[in-house]
Amino acid sequence: MNSETRAILMRKLMTICPVCGKQIYGRDIDINNIEKSRSKIDHWPLRYVHCHDNGNFPMHALMIYIDANFSVRGLETSDFVKIQK
Ligand SMILES: [Zn+2]
Repeated sequence: MNSETRAILMRKLMTICPVCGKQIYGRDIDINNIEKSRSKIDHWPLRYVHCHDNGNFPMHALMIYIDANFSVRGLETSDFVKIQK
């Protein structure tokens, strides 16, 4: 991927969260990291979990299905999130 394509993708509006209306851009899903791992990804669309809160909406998770061209193919949400380290 050349730097121009990457810059466009970073600014690209990927999807809008159906729970809170947050706009999710390419930079929010760390496209650089996906690009680096591309050879290890054997199944597309990739499942990317984005957790966020927004205004009056408590933490929730957005499962974003992203194809190899970085287009969003589907979405799932959950209001029940625990991130355990
Ligand atoms: Zn949201």
